[in-house]
Amino acid sequence: MDYESLKHILDEKGVKLVAVSKTQPPERILELYEKGHRLFGENRVQELVPKYEALPKDIEWHLIGHLQTNKVKYIAPFVALIHSVDRFKLLREIDKQAAKVGRTIDCLLQFHIAREETKFGFHEAEAIAMLEREEFGALQHVRICGVMGMATFTDDRAQVRREFRSLRQIFERLKADYFADQPHFRELSMGMSGDWDIAVEEGSTMVRIGSLLFGPRS
Ligand SMILES: *Cc1c(COP(=O)(O)O)cnc(C)c1O
Repeated sequence: MDYESLKHILDEKGVKLVAVSKTQPPERILELYEKGHRLFGENRVQELVPKYEALPKDIEWHLIGHLQTNKVKYIAPFVALIHSVDRFKLLREIDKQAAKVGRTIDCLLQFHIAREETKFGFHEAEAIAMLEREEFGALQHVRICGVMGMATFTDDRAQVRREFRSLRQIFERLKADYFADQPHFRELSMGMSGDWDIAVEEGSTMVRIGSLLFGPRS
């Protein structure tokens, strides 16, 4: 699907497009940049940092993949949103590194909604336990802006829909119980190339799309 058509559909619904540029060379990113796109997602720190350094500074970079604690320091100065917070230890490290560079870093809590065990993320009860910890309340340099999840990689669209719906429900419950007075808790990051349309129907506010925009990854 071409960029303009996809962007048009998403704009009409008020859904943000994170162009997932992992494995793509800077030239491919610049092609979209020249069409006016500024929001890109990468899943590896080792790839994100050199791209940040090489490319225009008004790009908004999102980290969407699993993040090791010892790598947070490399992205803390510039990352706009971390989608993949899946444990308290990581959040504490993001808070520490953000403080060092005088920033507050926006984060999403990643939930495990798929059948595959390979995928990362909190279960709801674990996230709630974290939100109720005193140490969580003490963090001052992170801002939780919503949730993220990946559906099972399957042709069973009804299954995918159920999983997105379960993430939406988690989002709504957390919002009501822990973030009711925090308007920035509003992002529901779900939907990729194969399932973005279902995700949008189920209330996604942010889709992460790679191969549909850039073609298959090598
Ligand atoms: C690679 C990736 C995507 C995009 O995948 P496509 O199927 O190419 O759209 C989205 N989210 C995460 C976390 C990814 O790692």
